[in-house]
Amino acid sequence: MEKAINGTMIYYYIVCKRKLWYFFHNIQMEQENENVKIGKILDEESYRREEKHITIDNVISIDYIKQKGILHEVKKSRKIEEAGIWQVKYYLYYLKQKGVTDIKAKIDYPLLRQTLDVELTLEDEVEIEHMLDGIKKVVSEKIPNIPDKIKICKSCAYYDLCYI
Ligand code: SF4
Repeated sequence: MEKAINGTMIYYYIVCKRKLWYFFHNIQMEQENENVKIGKILDEESYRREEKHITIDNVISIDYIKQKGILHEVKKSRKIEEAGIWQVKYYLYYLKQKGVTDIKAKIDYPLLRQTLDVELTLEDEVEIEHMLDGIKKVVSEKIPNIPDKIKICKSCAYYDLCYI
């Protein structure tokens, strides 16, 4: 597999493996999706003063770094919180592989005025390694599996592709 696994792929691996497959194979429809537009506006409006979108190796894309050593990921809601947490843990994992260990992370939910601290444990690292293997397996399939409809399907940009 030549393409590097990025944070979005970790997120989609947890949210929906079919979505991961589409994304990996460059089938992208998110621009059309209202939720993503809201996310972009939120991103632009909420944190104008911070240094934003720090991309490392095209693998991780940090929304912004505020104080020294704390990276922030901005999310619209806590609806798919687990996926967001693993995305951020993956950033910490990736940075650790590069020798950066003195870094912490927070997820910001500006619409809720809440933040969540995220840490990487040794158990998390093992779990991430399992996920990386799982992702490679999903994206190497010739066609994506058709999962049962899940709750988020109705607000997913790929809905027409999956079910119409
Ligand atoms: S519509 Fe549902 S099954 Fe299809 S990609 Fe989106 S979340 Fe996955």
